[in-house]
Amino acid sequence: MPQSELPPFFSRNDVGDLQIEQVSAGEIVEHFDSPTYVYSRAAIESAFNALTAAFGERAHRICYAVKANSNIGILNVLARLGAGFDIVSYGELARVMAAGGDPGRCVFSGVGKSADEIRGALEAGIGCLNVESEAELQRIADIAAAMQQIAPISLRVNPDVDARTHPYISTGLKDNKFGIAIDEALPLYEWAHAHPALEVTGIDCHIGSQLTDVSPFRDAAERVMNLAHRLAERGITLQHLDLGGGLGIRYTDETPPAAADWIEAIRSVVDADPLARELPIWIEPGRFIAGPAGALLTRVEYLKPGEHKSFAIVDAAMNDLMRPALYGSDMAIVLAGQAPGDRDMDTWEIVGPICETGDFLGHGRALELAQGDLLAVLGAGAYGFSMASNYNTRPRAAEVLVDGHTVHEIRRREPLDSLWALEQLPVAD
Ligand SMILES: *Cc1c(COP(=O)(O)O)cnc(C)c1O
Repeated sequence: MPQSELPPFFSRNDVGDLQIEQVSAGEIVEHFDSPTYVYSRAAIESAFNALTAAFGERAHRICYAVKANSNIGILNVLARLGAGFDIVSYGELARVMAAGGDPGRCVFSGVGKSADEIRGALEAGIGCLNVESEAELQRIADIAAAMQQIAPISLRVNPDVDARTHPYISTGLKDNKFGIAIDEALPLYEWAHAHPALEVTGIDCHIGSQLTDVSPFRDAAERVMNLAHRLAERGITLQHLDLGGGLGIRYTDETPPAAADWIEAIRSVVDADPLARELPIWIEPGRFIAGPAGALLTRVEYLKPGEHKSFAIVDAAMNDLMRPALYGSDMAIVLAGQAPGDRDMDTWEIVGPICETGDFLGHGRALELAQGDLLAVLGAGAYGFSMASNYNTRPRAAEVLVDGHTVHEIRRREPLDSLWALEQLPVAD
């Protein structure tokens, strides 16, 4: 992203500092210290509303993928907008409920649901279990039968389309661990349809993340519709089609499709089919909703200019934001507030304090820096805090939600002693 270009609801104030809605980065760090994650409520709402608008009058449900950012403050904002949720663990379902979300509007994805998780989800009244294997389907049937309940299920089919994204976040290829090969789904659907403790409600697929092209979405929708027809021929009628998430965002120079382009690509397939014209379309976006809404604010601790490489050592690290270290992701890093003192124009490696060479936030960034400056890593609202760890015994960052002039602390910085609160000294005998 060119330095001058900021995501919606991020701007520069009259002294050139980064501003999130009406609040400057400097004010936030003054109150909450650094590193701190900051999110714009308006940005979250506008991404959600752009998807809603693209569906128009068409029946649909937007199930926000909780793993992108699972803070209950964020989930609450989305629940108020009428979102459903895509969850991948019982823990995420518990968060949705703590945030005021409706379990009946949740879909439960994931290849390794434990018996306890399935039981918990059925007890809570989960909207749909997205089943990823034959063995899981059997387990769900057994548990539902024992509970004298009927489990609503979809099969997550693997349509074998190449999402052309990073291999770690591509999920719709034959060789991925996710879903059931689409050609093998039919007999499982027939088995489930005949089982008294199962109710077949839909078809589900999710082909990957950070897609910057709509054609894989269209291809996947076509294959899902093809399966829907084969089910209809066998008297299996559906109540929804879940076409997953995965719409990409702009981190640096990507040009992802707009919300409307994504939905239009899906609708061009589904709306054209008489079988599906009335069928609600569900989607599971995570990154698209939370990503552009967030930034990680971090302070420059030291500058270490060198002959070959110059390092700007900041107070955030790979434990706070793992994407660069995990996927080699490029994320835009901009000056958010200037400290007084001599400034040094250089090409900086932006690195954290962690004892790993892989601990970097960005490579080769041309910036004029001084010690004490505030930087912001942009597009950090998704897969940022939710992937954070305590590696190197670093308390996880604070998280704040900006709403106009107001700043809500939605997670306080972890107190240090909480990091070993569950540990014990071995008892001597
Ligand atoms: C992660 C995930 C999503 C969300 O992906 P995004 O790229 O964040 O939109 C949706 N569905 C499932 C099953 C997922 O695992």
